Amino acid sequence: MDYMLIPKLFIAFFVFLMGICIGSFLNVLIYRIPKKENFTTTNSHCMTCNHRLYAKDLVPLFSWIFLGGKCRYCKAKISPQYPIVEAFNGIMYALVFWFVTDGQLNLATVGYCLAISALIVASAIDIKIMEIPDSMWVTILVGGILVYINDLITNGFIFENLIERVIGFFTASTILFVLAVITKGGMGGGDIKLMAACGFLLGWQLVLLSLIFGALSGTIYFIVVYLKNRKKEEKMDHKVPFAPHLALAVAVCIFVGQQFLDWYLFVCGITAPHECEACGGTHTHVH
Ligand SMILES: [Zn+2]
Repeated sequence: MDYMLIPKLFIAFFVFLMGICIGSFLNVLIYRIPKKENFTTTNSHCMTCNHRLYAKDLVPLFSWIFLGGKCRYCKAKISPQYPIVEAFNGIMYALVFWFVTDGQLNLATVGYCLAISALIVASAIDIKIMEIPDSMWVTILVGGILVYINDLITNGFIFENLIERVIGFFTASTILFVLAVITKGGMGGGDIKLMAACGFLLGWQLVLLSLIFGALSGTIYFIVVYLKNRKKEEKMDHKVPFAPHLALAVAVCIFVGQQFLDWYLFVCGITAPHECEACGGTHTHVH
């Protein structure tokens, strides 16, 4: 057994706990940003009885579970959105630590986690009000810069690595911008800025892949909703929030984008299998 597994598990659990605490803050953002409420000075209160909520009512995930999804004071049902966002954010943080930064707790871990949290909030608010707050793409850009600084610390300054990200900033965003001009506003400005920031985080290859995955996901969703509504003979609302699809695609690319690209380029015969210097095996990827 890998003797490093126990400390790694322990840190992963700690990262998960951090994730659910920050997830609880994400819920506050998702609830208050669309209402333009101040989220730093206002106390938390029950949305039904307005009773002030105390620390024991606000323990992420656990309060909701132990209170059976109800308000302690008026017994009104509390939306499962709260524990779902908390748990999801926590699980994503642990997965980033485990798989993306390979059991290392560094600036890249923080950067990717920041970006994923911002993507969750951006998606939820886009579903609610069809808008993406500027603070979210700025947060993703900060995440991207942290990941890049970590790259600088580990590998030193490599010109190609910086250019890859700078081009990434403009790749998907320019495509979306052109689409927005052609369709006269069918594509939101929020999506464009979101994908610019994601481009710096991922680099141009992976952000392009994200855009393709996001467009696929959005198209499938649109067709399913369209077919459902046609049966009901209801008028279809043609505006569909795109951020959740982009966010899902970006998250998938953070985890397996590079592996997918390596595999795809190999299958297409663009990269030949080569002997790996690190392990001596035959690989399709470059370490
Ligand atoms: Zn209440």
